[in-house]
Amino acid sequence: MSRLEEFIDTLEDFELLAFYKYRYNTFLRDSQVKIITEIENRGLNLKDIDVFITNAKNMGIDDDNYCPRCFSSKFYYANETERLYNSYYFIEIKNDFRTCLVCLYSQDKERNKNEKRSFWYRLTKNKES
Ligand SMILES: [Zn+2]
Repeated sequence: MSRLEEFIDTLEDFELLAFYKYRYNTFLRDSQVKIITEIENRGLNLKDIDVFITNAKNMGIDDDNYCPRCFSSKFYYANETERLYNSYYFIEIKNDFRTCLVCLYSQDKERNKNEKRSFWYRLTKNKES
């Protein structure tokens, strides 16, 4: 069994459909066939993707332990060091990003982007005053 097959084997039905929705186009033909075969073997219908994802959400799994986009609870954690600098400042920030394994959404990264924006906003403000 390939790593992809092992992975999709662990997915719940709604996760498999979300996986198809968000990732299918990023795979090569061989892998796409494996994904479609698994969907067919489970008797799932591609037309029901959003229904399945909405149902997962309605089951109450919408807290912080679940991906806000596809409601999977399968994540990986990546460490990244970011460098922020301009002619006045240089700082390094270490980040622990949690990214959804199914749809690759990273809420932490989104939050970080917003924080960074307000950080730069404050810096510019300080310089002007
Ligand atoms: Zn997700």
